[in-house]
Amino acid sequence: MNDAPSRLDDLIGQARPVTVLKNAIRRGRVAHAYLFHGPEGVGKSTAARLFAQALNCERIEESGDGDACGECRSCLLAARGSHPDVRMVTLEPDEKGRLRTEIAIEQVRQLIHDAHLKRVLGRNKVYIIDPADRMNQASANALLKVVEEPPGQVVLILVTSQLASLLPTILSRSQKVAFQIAGTQAIERRLRSRGVDETTARLLAALSGGRPAWALRAVREPGLLEARRHLLDLCAEMDRLPLGASLRVAERIREEAEQVASLVPAVSSQAQGGGESEGGGLTPDRALRAALPWCLEVMASWYRDRMAVATGGEILNRDFAEALNRQTGAGTVEQAGAAIEWILETRRRLVGNANLDLALEALATRLLEGAG
Ligand SMILES: [Zn+2]
Repeated sequence: MNDAPSRLDDLIGQARPVTVLKNAIRRGRVAHAYLFHGPEGVGKSTAARLFAQALNCERIEESGDGDACGECRSCLLAARGSHPDVRMVTLEPDEKGRLRTEIAIEQVRQLIHDAHLKRVLGRNKVYIIDPADRMNQASANALLKVVEEPPGQVVLILVTSQLASLLPTILSRSQKVAFQIAGTQAIERRLRSRGVDETTARLLAALSGGRPAWALRAVREPGLLEARRHLLDLCAEMDRLPLGASLRVAERIREEAEQVASLVPAVSSQAQGGGESEGGGLTPDRALRAALPWCLEVMASWYRDRMAVATGGEILNRDFAEALNRQTGAGTVEQAGAAIEWILETRRRLVGNANLDLALEALATRLLEGAG
């Protein structure tokens, strides 16, 4: 299954920015500098790549709608990341192989030099600077010169989830294109169109937090669904476990979080709010801390479902319907409500750098007490 979108129209839940970009191409009114901004993981980087592709598509006139054909020589080169007129400026590894935390001024100088050279194949020379908020003051100031006086046919695409971190002068001279969290229904439809069954599609869409790439990746990572099952099994077992089992429960949550952290770095970047993570170089503790919100969300979904069962509402975890029905009785709504509060509280404490093991143990104790 190939998940990579090959045209702007393939982006999920981003109709508005896609229309803006296609119209710019269709009307021949492409700006020299764009700023793609919005939450982490919603498709800004993919959109930048696809816009660059459309800006150089050889059949753009034929399509007439401003989107790339996805098939011509230029499109294929762009899709492979080897188009000579499309350049990525991003965080690079240092001499020890660790990802740098800043875009170095040399990278921007090279961009400026390159921008003045002739085009090789395409109609536009496109530079994608991603994440643009990782330019330091010197890099940003150097880039400003190109933004202010761009050589002909040069298009800059700055990508960021941290709009406030950019120089005001760059902000004011770029055309801002906002990307939003995609609706869960749009994600669900896309998953269904990829042959994912209805239950899984609905579940992943709900758990994705509006990040299609994450949902699509989760389909390919059975381990993630497995971690979810383990966590829900744990929730289902909670009322049969003794109060003294809190350490073991905390440990099991931790194990699943470790599994999730190793599988899906995308989970991490969202949980970190994008800017606070170390790019690709999360420490094990931070990766774990970043994966935990997802695990806690899965657990919260269990208790929400218990409430739903008790009140005749619709449940999310339909594959656990039997276990959920078994656990319904007097006081379910209050118990489940309290459990959700504790889970959310734990989530807040972990974001606030609370000791991870202590926070999980406290949660486990409360859940065990609440279940009794
Ligand atoms: Zn093309």
